[in-house]
Amino acid sequence: MRAAVVHEIGQDKLEVLDDVEAVGFGPGKVRIRIRATGLCHSDVSAMNGVLPQPAPFVPGHEGAGEILDVGDGVSRLAAGDRVLMCWLPACGGCAACRRGQGHLCLAGFMNAGTPSFRRPGGDVFGFAGTGTFTEEVVVDAGCAVPIPDDVPFDIAALIGCGVTTGLGAAINTAKVEAGSSVAVIGCGGVGISAIQGAKLQGAAQIVAVDPVESRREAALRFGATEAVAPDRLADAKQRITAGEGFDYVFEVVGKSATARTAYETTRRGGTLCVVGAGAMDDHLRLNMFELFFDEKRILPSMYGGGDVLRSYERAIALWRAGRIDLAGLITHRVPLAGINDALAQMRSGEALRTCIEL
Ligand SMILES: [Zn+2]
Ligand SMILES: [Zn+2]
Repeated sequence: MRAAVVHEIGQDKLEVLDDVEAVGFGPGKVRIRIRATGLCHSDVSAMNGVLPQPAPFVPGHEGAGEILDVGDGVSRLAAGDRVLMCWLPACGGCAACRRGQGHLCLAGFMNAGTPSFRRPGGDVFGFAGTGTFTEEVVVDAGCAVPIPDDVPFDIAALIGCGVTTGLGAAINTAKVEAGSSVAVIGCGGVGISAIQGAKLQGAAQIVAVDPVESRREAALRFGATEAVAPDRLADAKQRITAGEGFDYVFEVVGKSATARTAYETTRRGGTLCVVGAGAMDDHLRLNMFELFFDEKRILPSMYGGGDVLRSYERAIALWRAGRIDLAGLITHRVPLAGINDALAQMRSGEALRTCIEL
């Protein structure tokens, strides 16, 4: 079958091959025919080494499709079921899950070191234990979450990562209060989802910050009350908050430089919510005086920071009610053969989300 493969870390293009086989099917597993998958920034971060990932590998972790086959012991899924992929399934039994923090469950990551694919030349891993830039993938049954019939595959794929991450940051982690002021730094698919989340929570001002003009224009369509280039953020802070800083600032880039800007843009006692996934060797510097004296709350948010299954259901309910726009996030569509076009669209900043249709 066909799959897009990265041969080594640092490679900036993917090769679409037709000699790849999904492996590992057996008890507790399901085989999924992927129908739609989004290109998320984390896929690029895995390719360039910012996020740790063994190679060669098939990127992609935001996907949806149909169940082809279920292994022994899988009772709640059957062939033909429409599902979205959860790249961080909660096991339900570990200490994190028992505390109600299933998004911190590491049980699913135990598979990340096991190859998910095979080629004549050897083993191939799947990104984050999934790997959706492929026609078929074998995953733990917990990674396959059934979706209602009215949710198209492309929308379901988005809910599998970007939408859940952005909405959850605003709703679950930061718990944005009605009437508050918000700044969102980085307005790709996740940042736009954070903007939609802040709007749902009733934020009075939502300032979108992005160097790319088309993204600033998009942010306004999705609920931002103002959109500025990064060099105008200090001015917006002065004008909107009388220099005090925003009640909530979302960092959706994953770099220490933008996190530092976000920290300085947050008011004393306000909340800095770190959503971007950054590198292990990129350090955020804070001095011990400001940390204590300004009492800013630094709240990292991983995968939406809540029960992911509940977050999926909420996203679907809000989408169905017309309270969030998910179709509008998909600005580009390509077949698997056009995967490198998708990468170019992301790197240039012109895409909010590119959907790869299989
Ligand atoms: Zn993602
Ligand atoms: Zn667990």
